[in-house]
Amino acid sequence: MSEVVLEISHLHKVYENAAVIEDLSLTVHKGEVIVIVGPSGCGKSTLLRCINALETFQGGEVTLHGESVSKKSKDLPGIRQKIGMVFQNYELFPHYTVLENIMLAPVKVQKRKKSDVREEALALLKRVGLDNKADSYPRQLSGGQKQRVAIVRALCMHPEVLLFDEVTAALDPEMVREVLEVILDLANQGRTMLVVTHEMQFARAIADRVVFLDEGGICEEGTPDSFFDNPKTDRAKRFLNTFTFERKNTVMR
Ligand code: ADP
Repeated sequence: MSEVVLEISHLHKVYENAAVIEDLSLTVHKGEVIVIVGPSGCGKSTLLRCINALETFQGGEVTLHGESVSKKSKDLPGIRQKIGMVFQNYELFPHYTVLENIMLAPVKVQKRKKSDVREEALALLKRVGLDNKADSYPRQLSGGQKQRVAIVRALCMHPEVLLFDEVTAALDPEMVREVLEVILDLANQGRTMLVVTHEMQFARAIADRVVFLDEGGICEEGTPDSFFDNPKTDRAKRFLNTFTFERKNTVMR
């Protein structure tokens, strides 16, 4: 198998005396797309936030290419730049244009040449179908467009791994597809990604490996076909049944 990019070992995270993640270990290889699914509140978001050192954790270790990622890491800003994260709420600066939003960190933080970053940003915007929006402000964009800009902003930092936290959850249904297509395109380019989603069809299409989280631990993991067609645990079966039920209801409506 290809080289290890990210290693999570025996991660333990407590909020207010309650363990949210318990002894969780996961190895992510270069080019691998891991989709993390699980019931609401099982710790998916917390896991991504620990990987990016947005949260402290009480035990275990996260390493990126062997380098420790934690709030205590000496070069935390440097390591963080290698871990791109896209959130449910795009968090674009309202007073900056699309292009300015994308260029800000590569120019200010990474000290890259403005003209190079601009060229790359415009090429990436074109790739996600937004080259005509470079000079627009976030308020002039739809939710789906803003989310695509947020993805481009993350890509422009040249991250080694990308984390997606429920990026379509706040979008109107007709905008979900345009964002998922961008993520699918990134997967096809061989990017290393961890994707938290409730879109099960998308999860199946994009994942090399599905990790099912429940009560802060990995309850089950496997290929998309094995997980969706033959879940092994009762908890995973129950979880997947809720989606079948929802689908039936949608069809009947
Ligand atoms: P998921 O992403 O799977 O829905 P989260 O990672 O957001 O789950 O949350 C896992 C658990 O941790 C939940 O019980 C949630 O209430 C709790 N939690 C999340 N953030 C905080 C916080 N800042 N303080 C206290 N508890 C939190």
